[in-house]
Amino acid sequence: MTPALIQEFARQCGFELAGATPALPIEEAGYYRQWIAAGYAGEMRYLTDHRADVRADPRKLLPSAKSVICVGKLYNGPEPYSTRLDGKDLAWISRYAWGEDYHDVLRRGLERLVEKLGEHAGPFDWKICVDTAPLLERAYARRAGLGWIGKNTCLINQEMGSWFFLGELLVSLEISPASPPPDRCGTCTRCIDACPTAAIIPTGLEEGPAWAIDSGLCIAYFTIELRGPIPETVRGQIGNHVFGCDICQDVCPWNTRAAVTSEPAFAPEHFAPDLEKLAQISADEFREIFRLSPIKRARYSGFLRNVAVAMGNQRAERFREPLEKMAQSSETIVAEHARWALTQLESK
Ligand code: SF4
Ligand code: SF4
Repeated sequence: MTPALIQEFARQCGFELAGATPALPIEEAGYYRQWIAAGYAGEMRYLTDHRADVRADPRKLLPSAKSVICVGKLYNGPEPYSTRLDGKDLAWISRYAWGEDYHDVLRRGLERLVEKLGEHAGPFDWKICVDTAPLLERAYARRAGLGWIGKNTCLINQEMGSWFFLGELLVSLEISPASPPPDRCGTCTRCIDACPTAAIIPTGLEEGPAWAIDSGLCIAYFTIELRGPIPETVRGQIGNHVFGCDICQDVCPWNTRAAVTSEPAFAPEHFAPDLEKLAQISADEFREIFRLSPIKRARYSGFLRNVAVAMGNQRAERFREPLEKMAQSSETIVAEHARWALTQLESK
């Protein structure tokens, strides 16, 4: 089966990018282990537990796998980047989380792709991976020709930019492999210079990636994954981010004219909401409003913790009243971050 045929089938299933690479262990697994050993995964145990070993070989997920089909689905919209957002009352939610949870959307597309491949090639073994299965998806996607890995560690496609969800289909079919595209970051350091917490760090590796993200410094980690308090040393750098951070992609020159999705499921429901409104939502409302959104991953108390920090960083008097209410919250973590935010109002 040829890469062109895979791309055509994938396009019919809603994927802008597609390619294939052999389902074999790759050297990037070694770099990944070094990243874990250096402590850069923070408290994300799903990255460091037994699943870390499974990542080294796709055949541990599907023993008969011969190829990894990698697909990319655009989620970018025409809305402004966070670095251009005008409005101190507004919260920033990461671009990928404005619409429906991508896991379900990608899975549905990959299921359609399985059907199309089956009609063409007859029965075969397959396994769908969308984040949930431990696979080094960006590394395989690069090898499958979808793009290169930028210094911001995102997969970047020369024509369309980096706003892609990635998914994989392990198959027992032989598919002619693609070639990885060249790294086109060159001497650019915009993402490194723009990161508010200096989370993009040099690896010092003689071979392998020169740059990595230290999750323990990254705003996306603090606002999505971290369950406990956000260290006071970084709260001031978080700005108005309440779920994730896009800065290192917003400033990337390859995203200046990034392609825009036509997927209705990614219509922007949660673009730059009002901070004060977010501060007032109850736990039930949180569950209802973000029922179909990846934002539910932050959990109610974590999300309100982030809202309190964002309000404190605006140092705006109009946030005093909502913050005083939050400081009375029965959720200890919310109350503590609201008290911190009130001290920021005092120091304005
Ligand atoms: S997501 Fe934000 S905090 Fe994390 S590396 Fe990129 S710019 Fe830095
Ligand atoms: S901002 Fe520059 S260095 Fe960073 S990923 Fe984009 S091109 Fe590469």
